[in-house]
Amino acid sequence: MTSLEAAQPFTVTDLKQHIYCQRISYFHLCLPDIRPVTRKMSIGIERHVDERKRAARRTMAMYGLTEGELLFDVDVTSSRLNLVGRLDQLVIAADELIVVDYKVASRHGKHQEVQLAAYAMMAEESYLLPAKRGFIYLTKAKKAVEIRISSQLRKIVESALQEMTVIQQTERMPQPTEWRQRCLDCEFRRFCNDV
Ligand code: SF4
Repeated sequence: MTSLEAAQPFTVTDLKQHIYCQRISYFHLCLPDIRPVTRKMSIGIERHVDERKRAARRTMAMYGLTEGELLFDVDVTSSRLNLVGRLDQLVIAADELIVVDYKVASRHGKHQEVQLAAYAMMAEESYLLPAKRGFIYLTKAKKAVEIRISSQLRKIVESALQEMTVIQQTERMPQPTEWRQRCLDCEFRRFCNDV
């Protein structure tokens, strides 16, 4: 058993939340029953689905390609990382994979870049082609932001998964995020008495 292995696979959503605030991943991994689904989250899920339907009509030109296979809602997994996820869109070109994630937002954050890198790493394991780049499609801005799947992003994925394994095994609550403005509309705020 390696240091990245745990009883159940982590999800890419767990990973993204961990990067955003380690305490969110603690609540999700160690106290899963307390997680509310807020109205904001419900609206976000509905819009996300609508946007993905529209995405089916877009062309490969958006990704700088003339041809390739376009797949939607692709399940990806990695036994090495002990990670699973469902990717919004995967482009299989002759010599590369391109991962695409849709966000109901006008800008993106580091946690979403890490999420994209995790999808890329899993897709590489499944399709045996390199995934050197991906896109975050921002539905509110109607633009696709290209993200390089760098070695730095890949290291962040691996170290975050190790941290999550420790949190799950010890059930110790991490410190709150340094970025306290994130707490303002956090669904877990009532469980964090120190922010
Ligand atoms: S309220 Fe702040 S510290 Fe607590 S889980 Fe949310 S973001 Fe993290």
